[in-house]
Amino acid sequence: MSADVKTTCPYCGVGCGVLARIDGDAVSIEGDTSHPANFGKLCSKGAALADVLSLEGRLLAPHVGGEKVSWDTALDTAAARIKDALETHGPESVAFYVSGQLLTEDYYVANKLMKGFIGTANIDTNSRLCMASSVAGHKRAFGEDAVPGTYEDLEQADLVVFTGSNFAWCHPVLFQRVLAAKEKRPGMQIIAIDPRQTATTEQADLHLALRPGSDVALFQGLLAWLNRQGAGDADYVDVHVEGMNAALEAAAPFTLDRVAAATGLEKRAIRQFYKAFAATQKTVTVYSQGVNQAADGTDRVNTILNCHLFTGRVGKPGCGPFSITGQPNAMGGREVGGLANQLASHLDIDNPDHRSAVQAFWRSPFIAQRAGLKAVDMFDAVAAGKIKAIWIMGTNPVDSLPNADAVRAALKACPTVIVSDVTADTDTAKCADILLPAAPWGEKDGTVTNSERRISRQRALRPLAGQAKPDWWALCEVARRLGFGDAFSFGSAADVFREYAQLTNQVVTKPTKLNFGPLEDISDAAYEALLPVQWPIGARGDGRLYGDGQYSTPSGKARAVVPAASKPAPREGYTLNTGRIRDQWHTMTRTGLSARLSQHLPEPFVDIHPEDALREGIGHASLVALSSPHGKAIVRARITARQQPGSIFAPMHWTGQYASAGRVDALVAANTDPFSGQPALKASMVSMKPFSAGCHGFIVCTRRPTLDAAYWAVATCKGGVRLECAGEPALKEAFTTWLETTFPEAETVHYEDQASGHSRLAVFDNDRLVAAGFFSPTLVDVARQWVVDQLSAGAQSRQAQHRLLAGRPKVSEGHDGATICSCMGVGIQAIKAAARTCRSVHAIGAATGAGTGCGSCQYEIKAILAEAEGKEDAIQAAI
Ligand code: SF4
Repeated sequence: MSADVKTTCPYCGVGCGVLARIDGDAVSIEGDTSHPANFGKLCSKGAALADVLSLEGRLLAPHVGGEKVSWDTALDTAAARIKDALETHGPESVAFYVSGQLLTEDYYVANKLMKGFIGTANIDTNSRLCMASSVAGHKRAFGEDAVPGTYEDLEQADLVVFTGSNFAWCHPVLFQRVLAAKEKRPGMQIIAIDPRQTATTEQADLHLALRPGSDVALFQGLLAWLNRQGAGDADYVDVHVEGMNAALEAAAPFTLDRVAAATGLEKRAIRQFYKAFAATQKTVTVYSQGVNQAADGTDRVNTILNCHLFTGRVGKPGCGPFSITGQPNAMGGREVGGLANQLASHLDIDNPDHRSAVQAFWRSPFIAQRAGLKAVDMFDAVAAGKIKAIWIMGTNPVDSLPNADAVRAALKACPTVIVSDVTADTDTAKCADILLPAAPWGEKDGTVTNSERRISRQRALRPLAGQAKPDWWALCEVARRLGFGDAFSFGSAADVFREYAQLTNQVVTKPTKLNFGPLEDISDAAYEALLPVQWPIGARGDGRLYGDGQYSTPSGKARAVVPAASKPAPREGYTLNTGRIRDQWHTMTRTGLSARLSQHLPEPFVDIHPEDALREGIGHASLVALSSPHGKAIVRARITARQQPGSIFAPMHWTGQYASAGRVDALVAANTDPFSGQPALKASMVSMKPFSAGCHGFIVCTRRPTLDAAYWAVATCKGGVRLECAGEPALKEAFTTWLETTFPEAETVHYEDQASGHSRLAVFDNDRLVAAGFFSPTLVDVARQWVVDQLSAGAQSRQAQHRLLAGRPKVSEGHDGATICSCMGVGIQAIKAAARTCRSVHAIGAATGAGTGCGSCQYEIKAILAEAEGKEDAIQAAI
């Protein structure tokens, strides 16, 4: 069978359209040129979606107590356990923890079941970790959790301010739209606010490397400056904003001197930012996790919104605050009430009129009377034994929540843990009593909403594998077994969508803008064919909200907010900032399966400023032990002046499936923002020291070895896996024993230098490499990507087999080296060679193809160019 299917990328909140070309079992992926989010572009992750469609690691059947069972048995057991908790301990003893990976239809059914039928609001989503501070900030300022702007605003702006967002890596396609706009209009300015130097700050006209945690001071200073310079829009504020006088009064003490002292920035740089903001009507401020994931995240959001409200720059072409979501359907989840403090359709759980209107619409026996437990509190309640049954869908809290070891312990002690997932072996699935096989991207069907309020269809590319089922179906089946079958008789995702659209249109006791009215009677065929559509749907206008100054508050006015006075926290050790990297997504359950995505940064790492590394005796590429009162991690050191002294950065992607001790959220304290409940994932205090090991190893193998090493990190590669390890000297013997058992017929060549302790071996089956190991008392020095490539190089001559032990190619052979451009598969050596004659990133792209895909490696190419021009350690710092 061959077909073209238009669907949506399941990774970030840009929500790019994807065209999947299906030819029999083969699927190839292209960007959908007709989708208004990306017009055919995809980033490295989106472009690699075909790599993650395999059944490897899939959960394909329900399990209870570790045994494979039928769906009926699993659902009967789940329903009976929930019922038992309800009858014995009441509704508050049950909780759902869901995900921005769920489709809107799944989310809607989960919320309806929990809030309207089980009768508690103990349902929260991993969007709590991502965007809850933006939600709270929007509600405080606008009266509704709504992003006013569109992606076009980022192109039409004369000034784009990125704050708390490595946009170039985390939302690459939209970042490239901004860069393309700047290329057409070079007068457009980009200002990036981030404690780190990143791929985003590299492209900015001005980088404000503020001290971690000083964001509120910077934006309070901006508001005060705008006021002092008379740059506000007094008429707009008079008519459309309340509370501005108090906000201005609170901001007034933030003079340039005070802001400079708080942020550590030079006054000249602060003034340059403030002047640019004051002078540029068309200004968009884009913000993300660096703003949201903080103990004062909501105040950070509101200080940004205050500046836009003061200048009347909301919902107009080319200007406005723009919260960009991390997940593909964080927005859809928020719209259906996925957070514990919301009801569907942006209604308030604290508002009795809203509660009774939703209850009447659902004809439900109950409606939750108050906000439920937010994510961190929910798992605290599990730990305290108050939650007796929890259903976790499409997320991996044992790796992604703060204090992650405590989350694991809590789940292990919980009487009933139900996990719906597509992957059989996540750290969370290991805690499950009942495992339900969910439908993954490519098999599930429904809608998602992206960061500019655009609803797009995710369509199935192939039938459900094994016994996998959509989440909405499993929820309905449990609801039926709990006695609520009539309200959950949905036969399809389209049925669910229609009911949700009706709710947004028929529950009208609200000033909110969310309304899917024109879609409430959508036919199955029209739902199937639904084109990307932005809400408010069918409204006259330009896709923006609040351009008319009419907000969703009872008064119709926006609200300026006075942030709480900040209390400096005691700081001892290093501030750990956790975040994302270019080619991985969340806890790597999908992107970790892709060989090309796993070559860019194949190990968990920590970025450390050279002064801090020197103080702690940590060398570049050595192993580092990180610890906090909550947990420990072992990761690879990257020494770089892109990091501020006193602050370190580690990605949050690695799990127990990919590294022995790379779960950095285990180190993170469970501090939360008081308004949003969002955890402060970027400011935990940790200590670090060198991790010493008697033996270091680098292994490639067609099968994944089982090794009992203190440190290991495994990554998928073409033909098998690559693995870094370190531990006791017996490590090498353990690997050899494993090889003998695993490849008993294979031939081994080896080399041993007793004096230096270096040992190397390579194992061939029919002259094809099946495994190679390189062991050393210090860091293993081999050309890793070349060794990896030998796994898929085919049969090798006897001479080549012995040569492999050298761990690098002959000089005459040459090799591309470590992957820099994942889209086009170009390595560092090829780019370095081109940099000898090319003088620009574009020229290198023309010569090698590097940087011409999604463009998110262009900053690394720039660093290689800089090094070729003699600028010190630029490559080491960037990569
Ligand atoms: Fe997917 Fe990349 Fe587009 Fe985000 S920017 S939606 S990850 S293709």
